[in-house]
Amino acid sequence: MGVMANKQEKPQNVFNFDYTRDGQERPPQDYYEQIKEKFASERDLRLGYRPPGTDNYTSDLTGDLAKYAVDPYGHAVEDREALNDEVEVLFIGGGFSALLTSARLREKGVESIRIVERGADVGGTWYWNRYPGVACDVVAYDYLPLLDETGYVPTRHYAGGQEIYEYCKMIAERFNLYDLAVFGTTVTSTIWDSESETWIVETDQGDTIKARFVVCANGTLSKPRLAKIEGVETFGGYSFHTSRWDYEYTGAELENLKDKRVGIIGTGASAVQAIPELGKAAKELYVFQRTPSSIDVRDDWETDPEWASTLQPGWQAARRARAIEGPQVSDAVRARRESMSREEKIQRQENANIDAMMRIHNRIDEIVEDPATAESLKPWYMLMCKRPCFHNEYLPTFNRPSVTLVDTEGKGVTQINESGPEFNGVQYEVDVLIYATGFEVQQTGIYNQIIGEDGLDLNAKYSNGIRTLLGIHSQGYPNLFIMGGYQAFFAFNLTDVLNSQGEHIADCIDFVRQNGIHSLDCTHDAEERWVQEVIDHRGKTNRNRDCTPGYYNFEGADNRRQDGNYNGTMKQYLGHMSEIRENMADHFVFTHR
Ligand code: NDP
Repeated sequence: MGVMANKQEKPQNVFNFDYTRDGQERPPQDYYEQIKEKFASERDLRLGYRPPGTDNYTSDLTGDLAKYAVDPYGHAVEDREALNDEVEVLFIGGGFSALLTSARLREKGVESIRIVERGADVGGTWYWNRYPGVACDVVAYDYLPLLDETGYVPTRHYAGGQEIYEYCKMIAERFNLYDLAVFGTTVTSTIWDSESETWIVETDQGDTIKARFVVCANGTLSKPRLAKIEGVETFGGYSFHTSRWDYEYTGAELENLKDKRVGIIGTGASAVQAIPELGKAAKELYVFQRTPSSIDVRDDWETDPEWASTLQPGWQAARRARAIEGPQVSDAVRARRESMSREEKIQRQENANIDAMMRIHNRIDEIVEDPATAESLKPWYMLMCKRPCFHNEYLPTFNRPSVTLVDTEGKGVTQINESGPEFNGVQYEVDVLIYATGFEVQQTGIYNQIIGEDGLDLNAKYSNGIRTLLGIHSQGYPNLFIMGGYQAFFAFNLTDVLNSQGEHIADCIDFVRQNGIHSLDCTHDAEERWVQEVIDHRGKTNRNRDCTPGYYNFEGADNRRQDGNYNGTMKQYLGHMSEIRENMADHFVFTHR
């Protein structure tokens, strides 16, 4: 039991390099400099093919592309009359943001809560992403929220997508969130009515709902995007996006693919999980790669029931508290860090990062039999430039004779015709083409127009530079709360962020209700202080410029120093939240009715 218990109690930390440790046989600095040059040339190669920014993608899935947005699981939505009513708290989106915050609101006695959700059920990411192999790379005991409250213990160290989706539904049941919820419904506008001091929310189903409080819980990666590839619409076979997996076509166990030639475009985290399953099922599989992901070991296991039975109430909160504290360092290590110059620290961190990447390269050489394929699968960038992946079957999949890696060497697929992708004069004939090309990133008010008290569209306000308090409040948008948006803390475990934001929002709403206040709006000064706080914590290195393009660095585009996540620690973020809640009048203006 001892070893297993320790393993299960240890919070995950994916990029904590001990840069103070002197390796026994560390190569000379020249070795690291050469690798950094290779990183830079691979980045420049890509930026040569596609100028910085998101222009090489489209998330405007209308017209010929409309089929890529259709909900293949949406048949569960029943016809209903349009609503014309009023609720106290309205959530735009029904994923973990809404579930977590609603649970906290219920604890504070808030009854009138409505979730408005585009999908046919709650779950958000886990509703949409049902591709084969879908799972979460964050340890389930940390990722699944409200485990203390629900008494649920995940069945595995890393939960599969189906389990997480079922758990979302369990939370909705447990906190009575289905009663007022509406599904298959997209919020199209959210407009502040100064007279009644409420939000008027309209939907694509003809609803007009008044809400005193609105929470933008629309997620960070919700709208599927396609790469702009010439001829996408001319493809004569079957095609879909990973987040709209068509099991009617593939069969529940992918059995219909046994006589099919399958192509998949993209090798990000979604593709890395789907490809091993496709490799097993398809007659032939072609993987079209622009940039490889980093693939590390997936240390997974079934939850030990004996361990689970030892868990005391509050065990998850205790894990979270430990994670917030961060890894404990000895006095000697702390002293060593403090004695280093900034330059030495950066160099040591970079070298440790390169060591980690070279270990990932070595693993590829050990597993992948064909040397040219192994070479193509090697990622040439610092770890965390792109989302790190963890999988034990991904690399071996390329040893299957039926699987071909089409390395586009940074260029990407540029042409599709009736029979499939064409690259470098080679025609790849496929029956089905799967787009694993990701999602539009972190838009507040996706599908939706948010108009505040001055008639200003929130995105128009943001176009001059994002301005928020904690990434949650924005001045001029009273009683509106944003979850998972920019200027909030970023954590590999997103639910850590959402959990803290949910608690904060529930406390704010409770404060308003308890103090005879009608609405709260953050002050211009409070917002300005937060914008400066975000800028003060911008990285010391030029990661945006040094990294290969990807959604972590705005696809290589320069951006304003305030337009991104808050880079202080989670502990600092929580500290700011507490200070703000203890001194509400210093940060907000209130109205009374
Ligand atoms: P990503 O945006 O990460 O990946 C898109 C992929 O499409 C990239 O590999 C990109 O290449 C590739 N691409 C784009 N255009 C072309 C082209 N013309 N030809 C070939 N390839 C192309 O999307 P994902 O859906 O994979 O992942 C999104 C995020 O969702 C993840 O980063 C993660 O945060 C989350 N997620 C987490 C999972 C987990 O916990 N395991 C699983 C799945 C998703 P390039 O790299 O060159 O831009």
